[in-house]
Amino acid sequence: MEIINRRKRMMSVARKLRREENRTIALVPTMGALHEGHLSLIHEARALCDIVVVSIFVNPAQFGPGEDFESYPRDLTTDSGLLAEYNVDYVFAPTLEEIYPPGFSPFVTVEGLSEELEGAARPGHFRGVATVVTILLNVVRPNFTFFGQKDAQQSIIIKKMVRDLAFDTEIVVLPIVREESGLAMSSRNAYLTDEQRRPATVLNRALSQARAAYDEGEHSAARLVELVRSVIEQEPLARIDYVSVNDAATLERLEKMDDRPAVLSLAVFIGNTRLIDNVVLGKSQKNVVSANA
Ligand code: AMP
Repeated sequence: MEIINRRKRMMSVARKLRREENRTIALVPTMGALHEGHLSLIHEARALCDIVVVSIFVNPAQFGPGEDFESYPRDLTTDSGLLAEYNVDYVFAPTLEEIYPPGFSPFVTVEGLSEELEGAARPGHFRGVATVVTILLNVVRPNFTFFGQKDAQQSIIIKKMVRDLAFDTEIVVLPIVREESGLAMSSRNAYLTDEQRRPATVLNRALSQARAAYDEGEHSAARLVELVRSVIEQEPLARIDYVSVNDAATLERLEKMDDRPAVLSLAVFIGNTRLIDNVVLGKSQKNVVSANA
């Protein structure tokens, strides 16, 4: 396994693998502090492609003022050990200047989708995500790029960006990996105190109850949102940021779901830690999107 810090080196390695050795390349973009959610993406990437590249970059452009950019957990040594165990070929861990050279000015915005939900709560977040993913895709030029359903809106935005801007990669979105308690794995779970861990499981409990109600025929978005809110409000340490039902492809806010696939998503503060989670309702989503489809 080679750890690469420079974009030029990453570009030339990837170019050689593609052109001279005709190898397929998978890219798994991460911000590090790796957990089993990330590892599930890497496992699939390993099964699908000849070469696996994992990027680790805590991207300042996707953090708002007053958010946790400085305190975000960073541990390249532990991460590299895990990635070597998973037979990753290359870790791309660029410095800030390698991603954003001095004077950097172009940004990518997926208009419309980026202003909803997480984008409304975190203005500029998806502009930062779309821009860094664009740079990573240009540097690595992967055949397949892996994302988690944990960040449902991010996956939808990236799929749209790849389709509309004709990036030559396929986006693979994989299910949420949870702890035994039901808590969705997240690097930010490290912020939770021992006393906050049990209250944090209320997100998944609320979503599971909504899923059960949906399966029993409750297809009113308003009533499902109300159900989720009422479960979360029973937990004194939880404070709701939003609960929403949206079309799983377009993110259009839904009142009645009919049989359109929908995503029921939420953001909830447990103490000062903001957690997100979601469940897909209705037909399962196609999880591979080709730019040329
Ligand atoms: P992050 O390091 O938080 O930016 O996440 C990198 C990738 O891992 C993103 O595509 C996330 O959606 C995905 N991911 C994070 N947590 C999970 C999880 N619990 N299950 C599945 N994928 C995840």
